[in-house]
Amino acid sequence: MYYPTELIEEIRFQNVIEDVIGEYIQLKKRGSSYFGLCPFHNENTPSFSVSPDKQMYYCFGCGAGGNVYTFIMQMENYNFVEAVKYLADRAHISLPDPEMSEQEKEKMQLQQQLLEIHVESARYFYSNLHSARGKRALEYLNRRQMDPKYQRMFGLGYANISRNDLYQFLLNKGYTDRVLSQSGLVIPEKRTTGYFDRFFNRLMFPIFDVHNRIIGFGGRVLGDGEPKYLNSPETPLFDKGKHLYGLNIARTARQDQILIVEGYMDVIALHQAGFSNVVASLGTAFTPYHAQLLRRYVREVVLIYDSDDAGIRAALRAIPILEEYGLGIKILKIPGKQDPDDYIKTNGTEAFKELIHEHTCSSMEFEINLMMEKYNLEDPEGKIGFIREAGQRLIKIKSTVAQEIYTQEVAKIGGIPIESLKKEMLRYQKVQPEPFTYHSTTPKKQLLEKDTGVTKAQRSLLYLLFTEPRLYPGLKQYLQPQDFIDQVYEQVADYIYTAYEKNEKIDGANIVARFSSLEEQQKASKIFTGEVHFQSREQKQKIIYDQVKLVKQASIEHRSRKTKDLKELQGLIEEKRQLERMNISWLDG
Ligand SMILES: [Zn+2]
Repeated sequence: MYYPTELIEEIRFQNVIEDVIGEYIQLKKRGSSYFGLCPFHNENTPSFSVSPDKQMYYCFGCGAGGNVYTFIMQMENYNFVEAVKYLADRAHISLPDPEMSEQEKEKMQLQQQLLEIHVESARYFYSNLHSARGKRALEYLNRRQMDPKYQRMFGLGYANISRNDLYQFLLNKGYTDRVLSQSGLVIPEKRTTGYFDRFFNRLMFPIFDVHNRIIGFGGRVLGDGEPKYLNSPETPLFDKGKHLYGLNIARTARQDQILIVEGYMDVIALHQAGFSNVVASLGTAFTPYHAQLLRRYVREVVLIYDSDDAGIRAALRAIPILEEYGLGIKILKIPGKQDPDDYIKTNGTEAFKELIHEHTCSSMEFEINLMMEKYNLEDPEGKIGFIREAGQRLIKIKSTVAQEIYTQEVAKIGGIPIESLKKEMLRYQKVQPEPFTYHSTTPKKQLLEKDTGVTKAQRSLLYLLFTEPRLYPGLKQYLQPQDFIDQVYEQVADYIYTAYEKNEKIDGANIVARFSSLEEQQKASKIFTGEVHFQSREQKQKIIYDQVKLVKQASIEHRSRKTKDLKELQGLIEEKRQLERMNISWLDG
């Protein structure tokens, strides 16, 4: 799916990068660039730079970089086409229908149909709830004192007790088995060729994405059935690790924190009590995606959990993930064995507000408290255990001030001088030289690929070609675009070579805009945002010479592994000989 290159460029020109980024973060001018706090990693001193000349951004801290499209894709979780639409809209440019391949057309049609099916189903469930069949479900909601206004706002409904009601309804609407089978709403019958409903006799909660589209459902069983809560499975629309229940509303609340609760009912109950900044995860553990998503809207979250073991475990697992993305964390333990909904019902909204304002603790306090419960501090062995575990946690705190404060506190609780505790911590630091990181393939880290010698050499040569046109005539004798074995680099080389042949000016941001995936854009932009310094002319010549050799050798190896053609192999051997004879004289000019 693509738009004409000229249009993409026009949209880019109309969206000045420092203005677009300035809508998200505060930028200050320093020299010819702007600097600000990076929105993609946690930092206290600005290392995120925006260059008005290049129309590109680059973070010296985490390596994020690109043009205005890359930024919007990274920031809003958009794909390229969505970013183009967003920026076109921002610049009041109207877009023609994009050109699409057959495959893309099919995929988009399926997506569209699945979205329609979800809207139809939500309407169907809603009308069920308000018919004679939904009597029990409605009674349940009344018992939970759920205001009809909020039932409507969250689109609550009821899935009938019979097992193929929805399936028949959707068939009658004209949807085919092929499409319905991908909706996650029906399950194939084992013995026959038909389908039955995934959800029956359940109170239904539509799940919205941040753009207010229904992408799945959660269903709570009425009565004693198992499981108590059932969600849509993964479908082309729905990936539960990437969405949060209620975020479509919470993001518009424009508050400086978001409350995270455990269940759908809690989200709605808190809304009813006057909190619109509430989300719940969709029956899964917290993922880095969730953290990244939240980080776009707020700097701080309040984890509200039930006091049972499962609640505590969930909170403990979420903390490092949220921290990794630079979110401030406060923790609220609801007193007694209550969930937020129950607590508000028995104690009132005001009491709950007070809990949030005055009874939250930091994640570190929360963890220290758990350790205090775990060990018997009256007993010397218990004390040692406590100090050891707390010390190991303390060394992972990134902020020096916070570390100092909590070290004092732990020393006080353990009843030992702070110096002794610090000595002990120093020992752990030696055993554990690696800084604490959340071990998982976070989306942020997936972008950082292995930077091997050949990769680096390709990038560095392209940068030199870009900044020093005079190197081009010499370099092209030894390297052709296809010698850059990395696909992205090969394409960039192709653009640069073509531009030089046509005597055109090269624009880095323009080249980046020709790639459509975020990964490719990041990779391409790394070429133009890099900088290379040489100590002397001789050193520079030597380095370029070595890099050309390295890239060419890799290219020859790569191609000889792939080819079976004898003539081509002979050609490769000849290229290899030429490379060995390469002298440095072309670099003298
Ligand atoms: Zn950064």
